[in-house]
Amino acid sequence: MFAEGKNMEIEKYLAQIAKDLGVDQNRLEQEYRKGGVILGTDYKFPYLRFKKGDHDIEEGTVVFLGKELAYARGFPKIRRAMFLNGALAKHMKGRFQAEEKLDGYNVRTIYIGELVSLTRKGVFCPYTTEHVKTMLKKNNFFEEHKNMMLCGEVVGLKNPYQTKSYPEAKDFGYFVFDIKDRKTGRSLSVEEKNRMIAKYSLPSARNFGIFTAKDSKKLLALVRKLGGEKREGIVLKSLDMENQIKYTSNQSTNNDLKYAFKFVFDYGQQFMFRRLIREAFQAYELGLSKKELEIEAGELGKSILIPMVETIRMIAEGREVTEDFEIAVPDAAFGKAFIEHLKHLGVKATIEHVSKGKKETVIKVKRHYPSTNDKVKAYLGGEFCSD
Ligand code: ATP
Repeated sequence: MFAEGKNMEIEKYLAQIAKDLGVDQNRLEQEYRKGGVILGTDYKFPYLRFKKGDHDIEEGTVVFLGKELAYARGFPKIRRAMFLNGALAKHMKGRFQAEEKLDGYNVRTIYIGELVSLTRKGVFCPYTTEHVKTMLKKNNFFEEHKNMMLCGEVVGLKNPYQTKSYPEAKDFGYFVFDIKDRKTGRSLSVEEKNRMIAKYSLPSARNFGIFTAKDSKKLLALVRKLGGEKREGIVLKSLDMENQIKYTSNQSTNNDLKYAFKFVFDYGQQFMFRRLIREAFQAYELGLSKKELEIEAGELGKSILIPMVETIRMIAEGREVTEDFEIAVPDAAFGKAFIEHLKHLGVKATIEHVSKGKKETVIKVKRHYPSTNDKVKAYLGGEFCSD
């Protein structure tokens, strides 16, 4: 069904893709030459990946190349509310569904003779694919809906991207939140999606029901409650899926900050700054008393200062600050190949330990953050900083 090998006539494919997606062929060819659209060769069939989005095609869109082209449109950006009351009044005119925003990584799954899972940027992920295949082994959703795409969040401790455990998915869980036509990217309406999720018993993000713009206080309270349970927040979806808004708790933002400040020189300053502003708006909207605000400020301060001091202390003791996680793979060779795959994506990781079990092999992995380690070492050694 699909072309094998790397020596394909890309131009032929680009012409067809431009036609299928309704974009200008010259522009697409130009993007390919400039590296905005690149050829992926890490799957058994080659695929094109849109590294950058533009107004027509979303970033992370993938086209598997062959006699039949198989599309997986990128997952579009969801806008963030800073002040919930104002954002709802301005952007949510009708009724909308509130769903839990899970804190993991975005995974689109399509069927091209077998299931294939893609990361947000449109990279084929062998690790995620393997786990999602196991999870959906007995599910006949794709048998009946070959042209659909499941969009969901992978959460849990055993993955290389975002490790956060949930009681319902300690190590690995895949929770669907949208179902789309894989070629057009058009989402099923909220009602159609809910029906599909129920019909195929698909594991899904929690649904908190239907709300209107008048419910901002209720939703704010819900988000704070989720934050108190170490959960991230909510995504609000108009029933026709034309409008979506995300909103997260300060408690969860503090968690991001703890992580970012631990590897302080590897994270962009914008990452931290944006989160600080978010927290201010939430504290304001909550109408906190002076005492409550002081507690909130204390939590924020702790999330910044403590991880940085811990990092400095570890490096001063001659240790390396790393991120340690585990992955569960079918065998050691798969694990090794996957770490190589991560290296190609720019993740500096090494295998620390391999333990073979009856059903699976668990590999301990260390991710390295050279900028943080080098810079802190330099400062401890007396280097000046630039200000
Ligand atoms: P974006 O570009 O959409 O802003 P981001 O990479 O900055 O994404 P976030 O700010 O965490 O990520 O928020 C959007 C992401 O939230 C989605 O890409 C999706 O992976 C995730 N998500 C979790 N739960 C849901 C849900 N119920 N509905 C939609 N998205 C969800």
